[in-house]
Amino acid sequence: MPAPSSAPIIPTTPVTAEMRDALRAIVGEKGFIEDEHGKQPFVTDWRGLLVGGAGAVVRPGSTEEVSKVVRLCHAHGVAIVPQGGNTGLMGGATPWPAHTGIVLSLGRMNRVLDVDPVGYSMTVEAGCVLQTLQETASKHDRFLPLSLGAQGSCMIGGNLSTNAGGVQVLRYGNARNLVLGLEVVLPNGDVWDGLRALKKDNTGYDLKHLFMGAEGTLGIITKAVLKLWPAPKDVSTAWLAIRDPRAALEILSEAHSASEDNVGSCELMSRAAIDMVLRHIPGTQDPLKADTPWYLLLEWSSARPRRDGTEGMSEKLEQFLADQLEAGRVLDAAIAHTVGQSRNMWRIREGVAEASRAEGPGLSYDVSVAISRIPDFIDKGTKAVIDILPTIRPYPLGHIGDGNLHFSFMGPVGMDQQTLTQYKGAITRAVNDLITSMGGSISAEHGIGIDKLDELSHYRSKTELDIMRTIKRALDPQNIMNPGKVLRL
Ligand code: FAD
Repeated sequence: MPAPSSAPIIPTTPVTAEMRDALRAIVGEKGFIEDEHGKQPFVTDWRGLLVGGAGAVVRPGSTEEVSKVVRLCHAHGVAIVPQGGNTGLMGGATPWPAHTGIVLSLGRMNRVLDVDPVGYSMTVEAGCVLQTLQETASKHDRFLPLSLGAQGSCMIGGNLSTNAGGVQVLRYGNARNLVLGLEVVLPNGDVWDGLRALKKDNTGYDLKHLFMGAEGTLGIITKAVLKLWPAPKDVSTAWLAIRDPRAALEILSEAHSASEDNVGSCELMSRAAIDMVLRHIPGTQDPLKADTPWYLLLEWSSARPRRDGTEGMSEKLEQFLADQLEAGRVLDAAIAHTVGQSRNMWRIREGVAEASRAEGPGLSYDVSVAISRIPDFIDKGTKAVIDILPTIRPYPLGHIGDGNLHFSFMGPVGMDQQTLTQYKGAITRAVNDLITSMGGSISAEHGIGIDKLDELSHYRSKTELDIMRTIKRALDPQNIMNPGKVLRL
């Protein structure tokens, strides 16, 4: 991604000695970090590309403490960067280098407050790690469908603030679709209690949606009521070598009815992405000995338990794959017969971000377009990028059922980050112009953060930007809440 053309203007009121004492008094010694070594993981992004500044890292243990910390910052005009698991890929959780305020980490607010299996809901604090919440739901024979590669460390507050996507969007929707209610600390320290577990509530503006996807610029999510679903009881996963991305769309289109509307995930991967994972992620094994450019990870799941003598998901999927082989869309396929085989398939898919970090400098564009246009975008986009840098190495993949492509490239062999950066501006413009001309979005699920600050103002209309700025200024007139992210004011 191109770095923004210039750093935005952000408040730089420092954390004074007096304020440090006051913050310590609110959150206690274990909730306050000010030494450089201790702050380091909180001011560095997951990719290791951005390093920011902070006067202190503050880790409150309750909504009341968050509110007091924010109220204090508000009174002194000190800026706040909210942070969850710090796995975001756009730099939203990383302070700018000029930031002299605090990073407010939600990690200590990690309690599950209530699970209501009858009402299919769960009330949680924002610092709960996503995987812990999935496991909690599962213990109650319920299912929390949000699932992504960083689930072992990302936190639900961060997931909601980025409106995260992941591998189950096709069936259950993005993070915002999984929420019934929220509690939020506003930039002046007031607490908005919208922690309602209601499926129907048409009482004016639906305020919770303001905060989801806002990347911490409008307030701090402290609690959420999440929707749950029946736990899947019969799951079948397959790895398919396919003819091309057009075949992927045809396969998905037929899979909906063949599975009786039980398609859970449909992930497109290129051979280059798979090879990169196999090189860098220990223990992963190629599920198929095919050598074709394109693959699909297809999962069907049903909440109905499999009964003896009846056809389950795996038999249905097997029959479907046989039909697709005959139609020439699938070239080879493997169905997972053990949990280990299924885990291996998922580990390959979810290991791509980690593998690309190990491989070296690269560029990745998280774009979306109407799903029927994905093959066309891949063809035209790849050509446009290769025209700019012929030796760049594409490794596209994506949540194809959501029209979401991670249009990704490794730099040419031996090219360092600094040299690759010289091509970023031109490549980014080419990719984003193309996706926009096709009616798509420059950010499908990762958000804007720091990385796409300039891109948002380039591609969103004046009217849209004006509405966003009006909302931001109304809620945060001092611009202390995650300043310099998402919007340039
Ligand atoms: P952070 O990175 O800490 O923060 C993200 C943003 O939210 C920041 O702007 C921050 O200020 C704000 N924020 C955090 N907590 C709060 C809060 N409580 N209140 C207000 N603002 C807050 N993303 C996807 O959408 N789909 C994927 O499939 C996916 N796969 C990934 C795989 C890997 C290996 C990695 C490293 C990342 C992946 N991501 C994916 C990106 C990332 O995991 C998600 O954006 C995730 O939702 C971020 O959660 P977090 O707790 O780490 O948030």
